[in-house]
Amino acid sequence: MAAVKPAPFTYRRAATLGEAVDLLAADPDAKVIAGGQSLVPMLNMRLARPGTLVDIGALSALDYVDVVAGRLEVGATATQADVAAHPLVRAHLPVLAAAIARIGHSQIRNRGTVCGSIAHHDPSAELPAVALALDAEILAFGPRGPVSYAAASFFTGTFDTALAADEIVTAVQFPLPAPATGWAFAEVARRSGDFALVGCVALLRTDAAGTVEEARLALFGVASTPVRLPEAEDLLTGRPATAEAFEEAARVAAEHLDPGSDSHASADYRREVAAHLVATTLADAFARTPAGSTADA
Ligand SMILES: Cc1cc2nc3c(=O)[nH]c(=O)nc-3n(C[C@H](O)[C@H](O)[C@H](O)COP(=O)(O)OP(=O)(O)OC[C@H]3O[C@@H](n4cnc5c(N)ncnc54)[C@H](O)[C@@H]3O)c2cc1C
Repeated sequence: MAAVKPAPFTYRRAATLGEAVDLLAADPDAKVIAGGQSLVPMLNMRLARPGTLVDIGALSALDYVDVVAGRLEVGATATQADVAAHPLVRAHLPVLAAAIARIGHSQIRNRGTVCGSIAHHDPSAELPAVALALDAEILAFGPRGPVSYAAASFFTGTFDTALAADEIVTAVQFPLPAPATGWAFAEVARRSGDFALVGCVALLRTDAAGTVEEARLALFGVASTPVRLPEAEDLLTGRPATAEAFEEAARVAAEHLDPGSDSHASADYRREVAAHLVATTLADAFARTPAGSTADA
């Protein structure tokens, strides 16, 4: 698609969250801009034509990462790069850092925000899938006050979410996995830095004998939203974490997928890659559990 200049818009830089909400409410065609890494290309291609751009970049009170009551909270203006490098993320939620590492290039991660990626909701994006796998809460603020959305009901379709047009995402809260939970993140893309064709997030908790107590799996790039794989999760729970169990979970996952074909990949290719990623991420997640890390010792 030919790139053109954006359609005319009014630019307003909010000094407070209240001002941002008022500016958004004042123009039904207004849009929030955070890092601009998705919105600016859309403006340039005239895929978005907002009347007003409400820049929240100066809201430094929302530039934070914190751990509160078993949840890692990321504020709306925290950049992907800062979040990935944050000691709390490294210590408590390394799967989030691993997912961010696969987003575009460092220039994009230096400006793009975690909350912007979640609000934007490209179904090929890494962070909505992490949010879904972890049952994240998306916190927002609007003219009717604070509101929160469960990730499971937030992502409603390609570039679509449950967020109302006059609401601003203020933070996302990722519940921390139980101690000793193994994790893995993997995706297949044509080139490094490209959006994924298919990706998978896996979390696995086992007892000391290696029996699965909890499995969480989320795929992206296979539907108009990221998808959990309840049939595969249920199949694994209560069973020994073995390569055979992971292969079976992968088969069950593939049976329940209905990916589309597009110019990037066929449905069959996506289903096959998804199954492969389910099996390999489960094995990698198990290797990061105490039982898995000593299994071959
Ligand atoms: C070349 C290139 C490659 C990329 N590769 C990837 C990739 O591999 N994976 C990936 O996930 N992303 C990729 N991106 C997109 C990037 O990660 C964006 O940073 C991210 O999608 C959006 O975050 P942002 O802060 O830049 O949001 P913006 O671009 O500022 O906004 C995006 C959308 O979200 C809305 N929004 C943003 N913040 C809020 C908020 N707090 N409340 C309400 N609405 C909000 C905006 O109104 C807009 O509709 C790529 C971008 C480029 C240019």
